[in-house]
Amino acid sequence: MNGTLACHKGLVMLVVMKANASQDDVQAVCRKVESLGLRAHAIPGAQRTAIGITGNQGEVEPGTFEALDCVQEVIRVSKPYKLVSRELKEETTVIRFADSDASIGGNEVAVIAGPCGVESREQAFAAAERVAKAGARFFRGGAYKPRTSPYAFQGLGELGLQILAEVRERFGLLIVTEAVDHESLALVDQYADVIQIGARNMQNFSLLKRAGRAHKPVLLKRGMSATLEEFLMAAEYIMSEGNYNVVLCERGVRTFADHTRNTLDLSVVPAVQRLSHLPIIVDPSHGTGKRNKVTPLSRAAVAVGADGLIIEVHPDPDNALSDGNQSLYPDQFDSLMVEVRQIANVLGRVVAGPVANPMARRHAGAAAD
Ligand code: PEP
Ligand code: MN
Repeated sequence: MNGTLACHKGLVMLVVMKANASQDDVQAVCRKVESLGLRAHAIPGAQRTAIGITGNQGEVEPGTFEALDCVQEVIRVSKPYKLVSRELKEETTVIRFADSDASIGGNEVAVIAGPCGVESREQAFAAAERVAKAGARFFRGGAYKPRTSPYAFQGLGELGLQILAEVRERFGLLIVTEAVDHESLALVDQYADVIQIGARNMQNFSLLKRAGRAHKPVLLKRGMSATLEEFLMAAEYIMSEGNYNVVLCERGVRTFADHTRNTLDLSVVPAVQRLSHLPIIVDPSHGTGKRNKVTPLSRAAVAVGADGLIIEVHPDPDNALSDGNQSLYPDQFDSLMVEVRQIANVLGRVVAGPVANPMARRHAGAAAD
């Protein structure tokens, strides 16, 4: 494939607006971009708005924009990925949620926890109660499971999504769940707070584009043999369709090492942070495949500067329908939270504290916004 080559030939421009440019100015520049048959992506930053120009129509004359009073400068983006690049936006993207004070990419290390798959209402509720009390803000659980064997548990489908919606109502947790195709993505977009795209679909470009047209943030997991550039280009697919709320997730890559299920590449965290403004979280559960390695690697992930963790926790791992070997017992998750909280504090970050009544926190947070 010569994907990289094609991208280098594509459009590489970024229009940086002056700090005092108005909304009308931004819109006028966007209209000008669109009149050239291209797409404008206005991304507000702390100091100024940048407008990324994408399309595959060839070069644009920088002078077209430089001449405008409201424009500070026009930059050629040197990387094949443009909208995900730190050249577009200096500060890390913070993803926020309505009716919640939880976020991903801010000072708080986001913790997403729950079972691999939603197996029943009882199982999901038992997991949710414990992870919410321990301080997790987000609940994970697949309703659509991409399994190696067609005979393995495939997930409860829409019923699983309904159970997840009940979990949100009952425990005040934001819901993260995987979509595996266009049909499930439309449903996940309705029910969940974050749409997960799994490692096996990281280069399913049609699904990525569909996620780019969805209304919810996307959690994009790294493909099991994806390079950093391929990973960022997958995020670029989502952003190029207009969804700018993308969270990257390192979940281990395949190497010759066989003492763990995958090799968790923690070095990708600072590498991503250097190149991209998107938040990056770590999945030590799939990254190691072994329960006794999840806590050590969670500590390391927070220490290396990850913006969050996604951890499998099951009320009864020994009888889990998927990934029991890597699922923590709820008591182990309690200890993990205590430890990562201390590590986060050393770095000037926070992990939400344990709560007796998670719903009270949710409403307090919403009222404070
Ligand atoms: C999961 O999070 O349940 C999952 C299937 O992860 P991955 O896509 O990283 O294998
Ligand atoms: Mn799993």
